[in-house]
Amino acid sequence: MTLEKFDLIYKDNRCKIKDKEKVLLKLKEILGDENVSTKDIDKIAYSKDTTLISLNWSLQGKLTALPDFITWPENNNQIVQILKLANKEKIPVTPFAEGSGVVGGAIPVYGGIIIDMKRFNKVLKINDKDLTVTVQAGMNGMNLERYLNSKGYTCGHIPQSIYTSSIGGWIAHRAAGQFSTKYGKIEDMVLGLEVILPQGKIIELKTIARAATGPQLEKLFIGAEGTLGIVTKATLKIWLYPEKRALISYAFPKIEDSLEAVRKILREQIYPAVIRIYDNSETNRHFPDIKKVKDKVMVVFVCEGNKRLVDLEEKITRENCENNNGVDCGVEPVEHWFESRFNVKETSMFPPYKLVADTIEVSVMWDHAIDLYYSVIESMKKVRGVLLTTAHASHFYPNGVGFYFTFGGAPVEGKSDFEFYKACWDAAMQGCIKVGGSISHHHGIGINRAHWMEKEWGEALYTLKEIKKTLDPNNILNPGKTYTSPGKEV
Ligand SMILES: Cc1cc2nc3c(=O)[nH]c(=O)nc-3n(C[C@H](O)[C@H](O)[C@H](O)COP(=O)(O)OP(=O)(O)OC[C@H]3O[C@@H](n4cnc5c(N)ncnc54)[C@H](O)[C@@H]3O)c2cc1C
Repeated sequence: MTLEKFDLIYKDNRCKIKDKEKVLLKLKEILGDENVSTKDIDKIAYSKDTTLISLNWSLQGKLTALPDFITWPENNNQIVQILKLANKEKIPVTPFAEGSGVVGGAIPVYGGIIIDMKRFNKVLKINDKDLTVTVQAGMNGMNLERYLNSKGYTCGHIPQSIYTSSIGGWIAHRAAGQFSTKYGKIEDMVLGLEVILPQGKIIELKTIARAATGPQLEKLFIGAEGTLGIVTKATLKIWLYPEKRALISYAFPKIEDSLEAVRKILREQIYPAVIRIYDNSETNRHFPDIKKVKDKVMVVFVCEGNKRLVDLEEKITRENCENNNGVDCGVEPVEHWFESRFNVKETSMFPPYKLVADTIEVSVMWDHAIDLYYSVIESMKKVRGVLLTTAHASHFYPNGVGFYFTFGGAPVEGKSDFEFYKACWDAAMQGCIKVGGSISHHHGIGINRAHWMEKEWGEALYTLKEIKKTLDPNNILNPGKTYTSPGKEV
């Protein structure tokens, strides 16, 4: 059976490549025969990322999208040549790292060439005095963290997907790790970058702690989701491996109390590395054995670093929890969180039962934090077929919060799973924008949020589109994403 027989979700606007054989030969010339594939098995492997609805489609025997060529470059020159060829032949190019993205960023919606970055997998340098690591962008996150740990450091960036995501993917999506309240998001960690622009020019944004040399151009590529360039190398901050960890947990009567306690902690410039507030439903789901927290709101904290500072942080964290109706639940809930923090089987258990589920993260300033929680939950509940809406908050700043929602349900009769999925997403976006939130905290835009970008950015989106047109006049690099939905021009 050929792949053409499969149902293809993104089939409109697939690129028409005039002479596929000629392009294949040219790619083999650039990369060597073994680093280019047109095999069906590889095309299927690169037909989707980890966007959850794609799993429903896979189980129904449908393909999300279909690339024409898969490539595995190992140096900048090969990427430059692929991009030049793609511009000449007007072929779309999708950068692909580990495919753990959950918004469709790495899905080749127009077909064309996949550039898989996994062979860019080396640590180039650790500078102990500067506290930096320079690393190739395709490197796996856990491999980097293990390497740093073995030398006495940590990157401080531990996303739940650390085993299946890369440094380039983190940068592309402005990712956040579980320890972000102390160490920041990836955009706080990048000090230098090397990027190959869509037409093949290599630029280096030099490593520096701070400068005043014009706009911060590196920021343009952090969060650009592979649409403005391919990141090949990055220099990141690193930290000494923590001397001590304090594990703290409190049960609060209401989510309002827990948010207030955390806001007060941060106001005192105390930054526990991990803070996680679980709403009632998530508390009952994740901590069924902790009696003190039944029908309440669980908050877990991890303070880490220098022992003397950790002791002080713990004291101030506890004071603020107790002043806001918190009841100490000991270390057990935090140990449970440590043990289960990479367990992600929950959401993927839905699709085999023909249920549709996903997670949606957004952010908001403190002033509207509680409004946002209720607004998004209520908005999603109104979608017919929704059976479950829950949330936790897991990224905190002195000025605001990142919330993470989960929905699950089944489309009502007459609606497809995709229509139901999109209705839930739109309801969440609507509920977020209504109270002044931002539509993504760390998963990014990809396809799922692209049509909300005008609401998010206003007039400024047109400036961003002008930059895209200038850097990528043939619109070859990751088209159909971020600024516009598949099938629409930038
Ligand atoms: C179970 C699970 C848990 C997750 N937990 C977290 C979490 O805690 N925090 C978080 O932030 N995210 C999380 N994610 C989302 C996902 O892991 C991130 O978005 C991750 O940053 C993507 O990295 P990747 O290497 O897999 O990139 P891919 O999915 O392969 O690509 C993502 C995007 O980056 C682009 N891209 C990839 N490499 C490059 C490059 N070198 N240059 C330019 N563009 C590039 C691609 O074109 C695409 O647009 C989770 C996902 C899953 C499935």
